[in-house]
Amino acid sequence: MKQEIIKDLHIIPRLEQVPYLVHGFGTKKWRQADFKTKSKLKDFDLIFLNQTHSDIIQHIDKIPDKKLKGDAMISSCPKLLLIIQTADCLPVLFVDELRKVIAAVHCGWRGTAKRLVQKVIQRMRDNYGCCPSSLLVALGPCLGRECYEVGEDVFQSYEQGRHSTEFFQNHPIRKNKYLFDLRGSNLSQMISCGVSKKNVYSIDFCTHCQKNLLSFRRDKEKTERMLSFIGMSF
Ligand SMILES: [Zn+2]
Repeated sequence: MKQEIIKDLHIIPRLEQVPYLVHGFGTKKWRQADFKTKSKLKDFDLIFLNQTHSDIIQHIDKIPDKKLKGDAMISSCPKLLLIIQTADCLPVLFVDELRKVIAAVHCGWRGTAKRLVQKVIQRMRDNYGCCPSSLLVALGPCLGRECYEVGEDVFQSYEQGRHSTEFFQNHPIRKNKYLFDLRGSNLSQMISCGVSKKNVYSIDFCTHCQKNLLSFRRDKEKTERMLSFIGMSF
């Protein structure tokens, strides 16, 4: 089994095997206060970003004085919980098991067009000596490719950025609209910079179709986000 759900969290059993690691992808029931109720998590400092659909990567080596701006965090420090907030976008968690380096990334279509996951992998390699082929990667729930309708503007921004457009399909009914495979596009970027397919674990649920997840497109008026996290204790 590649995933299981424990008390409002989706977890990846392979990542659970890493003795110093904590991680999870919260369902809509998992709220910020819940971090303090779990014995394995309550001693961690919670690190959030001011997420802006950018390609800004923050290196977190201590508790920041203020909330930092960006859409990815990398850390090699214990007791810091890197938290990504999403409701349709793709949350991605990384760990280099041997070197004890972690990352958490927020991937919407804009961050994906900016190749954010590739930049994170390059940064992990250049700054921390991580080998892409040994990274363990976990992809959380996001808007599925059957449900992710985008317009011509999104398609063109990918074309202009010299991305493969294989992750776009013409919408079956709506003219000048496409269906976009956000998960597939990010997975392809990771594989092309050296991540090994066997090290990628994916929670293949669509936020729009699964009622226990939050979807910005479905729950329009609500501003809640799901919380995905990764941290180390040693
Ligand atoms: Zn769906």
